[in-house]
Amino acid sequence: MKYISTRGQAPELTFEDAMLTGLARDGGLYVPAEIPQLSHDDIAALAGLSYEETAFRVMRPFIGDCFTDEEFRAIIDRAYQGFGHAARAPLKQLAPNHFLLELFHGPTLAFKDFAMQLIGQLFQAALERRGDRVTIAGATSGDTGSAAMEAFRGLNNVDVFILYPHGRVSEVQRRQMTTPQDANVHALAVDGDFDDCQARVKDMFNDFDFRDSVKLAGVNSINIARVLAQVVYYFSSAVSLGAPQRKVSFTVPTGNFGDIFAGFIAKQMGLPIDQLVVATNQNDILHRCLSGQGYYKGDTRPSLSPSMDIQVSSNFERALFYAYDQDSGAVAQLMDELKNGGFDVSQGAMEALSETYASGRTSEEETLATIKSELAASGELLCPHGAVAVKVANEHRKAEVPMITLATAHPAKFPAAVEDASGIHPPLPPRMADLYERSERVTRIANDLAALEDHIRKNITH
Ligand SMILES: *Cc1c(COP(=O)(O)O)cnc(C)c1O
Repeated sequence: MKYISTRGQAPELTFEDAMLTGLARDGGLYVPAEIPQLSHDDIAALAGLSYEETAFRVMRPFIGDCFTDEEFRAIIDRAYQGFGHAARAPLKQLAPNHFLLELFHGPTLAFKDFAMQLIGQLFQAALERRGDRVTIAGATSGDTGSAAMEAFRGLNNVDVFILYPHGRVSEVQRRQMTTPQDANVHALAVDGDFDDCQARVKDMFNDFDFRDSVKLAGVNSINIARVLAQVVYYFSSAVSLGAPQRKVSFTVPTGNFGDIFAGFIAKQMGLPIDQLVVATNQNDILHRCLSGQGYYKGDTRPSLSPSMDIQVSSNFERALFYAYDQDSGAVAQLMDELKNGGFDVSQGAMEALSETYASGRTSEEETLATIKSELAASGELLCPHGAVAVKVANEHRKAEVPMITLATAHPAKFPAAVEDASGIHPPLPPRMADLYERSERVTRIANDLAALEDHIRKNITH
């Protein structure tokens, strides 16, 4: 199994090298050269299996011979053992034929743990075998950073530097990044917004001297290993509701397009998905684009669902690559135009996108109203990201097809907004109850490439 860049100018890599590299050297994103297929019988045979066994069967074809079956099974088992729910990704019913997929039972209470815990174990196994070390740099709008630090803390072949927008993450998110005491994880509060953080990380990857000297690796949602880990719960939940005999739909609260793109891969692998619905908050570049208005950057406006506060959605490049029939030249040109503000999508690509994705947008008022109305209707307390998705799902669902809406974070991660909407202060699960008492460790830093690179060079522990 080979991995190729969406921009066509970087070397083809194995799964392991694509994972360790993150961003391709031509600025593109790695995708599998061919998407493996699971037959109707393969999918039917997933019924009743554990999450771990489902993960093994769904991801195995993407791994090639980078890990033996035995190694890969052990890695998966270690990755999910810290989850607080035996089903890992349990389904709850909200309404007739509407289901909530709870993806927040991992150590940092957001769906990012599904990919990050796995990637931590994969990195460790690969680097140990190679006798190698890396420096991970990542940008976060809140949840990726804590998930990465939790997954890599204490590993002696990795340093992790996480850039987050100062003052723009929730207190729980910040504390989850600033309280791990392990010397190899470093929180950086950048004076800028999430797009600035993401841009600086991209700049570091494009500074080849720096990149090579610190052995830079990325675990942002551009990392193909993360996307693949997220394909698993599309299968596990769909099979629980009757796939492959029955079609299902998904609505996904979307920011960087990693999660919903995993749904696209699941569909390409053979999972019978009817609709894949992109739900955005007021930062709605994806909804505007999927509605035919082109892909043009605006200003990021801080919202109640901060993990989706983005204007440039990095994994959308992968969606464009497939919509443009794998034409890497066309993708490279669009990404050039994006530097000057945006681009229009060609008619053919627009048709391909609308065949795969539907979309909707939820305002701030609607987010709060949905938290309140869902609590009354089903007793479920949603986090603001889940609320954005439930509102859009209700606009798209059909009576005859089960709709699975992804609940990407625990309500206790966003207590202020949840309390505002519902009057209920959502408590942290007991295993994190002392979060507010732990001491914090963070460096505030300018939105400046040289300052960041200097800080990283000086603070690597190995
Ligand atoms: C990251 C995140 C999202 C957005 O996921 P993408 O893969 O970036 O589209 C949604 N909700 C929560 C809680 C998140 O942490």
